[in-house]
Amino acid sequence: MKMEDIARLAAAYPHLWERNMILLPDGWTEITERLLSDLHAIQPPVDGVYGSPLPIMVKRGQGFAVAFVTFNPELGSWTPDKAMALVEAVARFNAATSKTCEVCGKSSTMIVKYMDHRDQQTLCQEHADEALEAANEH
Ligand SMILES: [Zn+2]
Repeated sequence: MKMEDIARLAAAYPHLWERNMILLPDGWTEITERLLSDLHAIQPPVDGVYGSPLPIMVKRGQGFAVAFVTFNPELGSWTPDKAMALVEAVARFNAATSKTCEVCGKSSTMIVKYMDHRDQQTLCQEHADEALEAANEH
């Protein structure tokens, strides 16, 4: 993720920002912002209270990422509708990372596996072609 996006999202959602989001590729910044925006809408921070009503962890895999979100029952108010919206927001993020190009954020067409130590990547056609061309030059 670009430094400017890290600064912008961490400032906009300080109660939701999670350090590992820094490790997500540029192409997934919009997906990450959607998750933060969805979670903020479901349960905004409680005025005057330190701590997040929705603690998050993000784990990046090879060509995908998974968000784990729990809720603090002592902060905010919880209803079945909000619980369902939370499940849907997390599921949307998790599904989107495996369908979105890590470089540009367009729909991905394939997972590129490298023959060296690099992690495999979820890429659109254009960026997969570039990656394969670069690999053939070595
Ligand atoms: Zn791309």
